[in-house]
Amino acid sequence: MAQTAATPLKGPHASQIQNYACHCLALKSYFQQPGDGRPQPRIPARDIVWAVVMGHILRVTSFLRLEWLVHSPAQPGFGVKAPFGDDALAYGTERMDPEPTRLALAEALHQAKRNKAFENSRFIGLALDGTGAGRTYKEPCPLCDPIKDAKHEVHGSLHHFVLISVVGVGLTLPVDVEPYGPGDSEYAAAQRLLRRAVEHLGPRFAGYVVGDGEYATAPFLHTTEEVALPVVARLKENLPLLAAAVRARFDGQPPHAVFQEGDDRVEVWDADDFDPWETLHWTTVRALRYRQHKRDGTVVQAEWITNFSIAKLGSLSFYRMAKSRWEIENRGFNDGKNRYGMEHICHHHPNSILIVWLLIALALVIERLYRLRYLHRGDHGIRSAQQLVDYLWLSLFSGCPPDTS
Ligand SMILES: [Zn+2]
Repeated sequence: MAQTAATPLKGPHASQIQNYACHCLALKSYFQQPGDGRPQPRIPARDIVWAVVMGHILRVTSFLRLEWLVHSPAQPGFGVKAPFGDDALAYGTERMDPEPTRLALAEALHQAKRNKAFENSRFIGLALDGTGAGRTYKEPCPLCDPIKDAKHEVHGSLHHFVLISVVGVGLTLPVDVEPYGPGDSEYAAAQRLLRRAVEHLGPRFAGYVVGDGEYATAPFLHTTEEVALPVVARLKENLPLLAAAVRARFDGQPPHAVFQEGDDRVEVWDADDFDPWETLHWTTVRALRYRQHKRDGTVVQAEWITNFSIAKLGSLSFYRMAKSRWEIENRGFNDGKNRYGMEHICHHHPNSILIVWLLIALALVIERLYRLRYLHRGDHGIRSAQQLVDYLWLSLFSGCPPDTS
């Protein structure tokens, strides 16, 4: 592990990223003590954790390929002290406590906020959404959800989790994940996740919570009140009375305001005096309809609800918060699955699956802050994720001096 941030390394290199994570994101003590649960460890826990994190930044998404990498000439520059096998990664991740990694994610996000990495720190958003990943035909583990066809025949299993992510600040940074297996639900997992994330981040970190229509239910909205965060949620037909009242009010009315947002023209209707449904303990409900006219002629219309007052949040900011929900879909799940191996099960064991998901989240946080904020200083242009990963691979094998401190 590098000792000082003052050692300059030319260009993006795995050791420079390690230095950045340890010193700029305050993760040095986490990498030294990441929650190792092995009784007699031979391989240092920091090497196992760093191998999984840096491996995912390099898009090496299987334990077998990581074994190959740490036995290759790239090993010293990759940032681990000695080679080890894929069994060490499986054994180590089976026994790791997830809590230190969750706290490390929160710490890195706090550092990012302190370092002014967020474009809009008045309203930092927390988006939640669930997904399935890691389809397998192996013997089921306790997190395996069987995939059934119309005749109830089982065709393998899937692993589900809810992700919570920082959105609305110019870069999308995952905060935490919560798995849910058979007998549990996305909905219950999301409430546990929101409570824990706010506990770890502290009450003044974020400014709002945003979720799709399935989160527009009284128990979830009450959970957001419990953690003292205003909420923005999609209004769909799962709330038929409110949806009908909003239609009855806004249909046929001219828009209350029109904004130009980038290339799009956005019409909005906004009113804060709708009646709550019977289980919701709000005095009134504010609803926004937007109609977004894109340059290519397509029109997108949707309705959203919130407990933000109009005095505190204008219609355009409400619209932007609603739109920030898409970040968890595009920059969270799509990037996570297509680029960073979230779809792949490295080792089919429930704790190992959770630890790898959390380490992928940490890899995304480190990679994005390093690439979009740290490297993007002075006259350096922004590097794409692909450019960075190409450069890192070249520098791993090009004899760039390893950090030997
Ligand atoms: Zn499983």
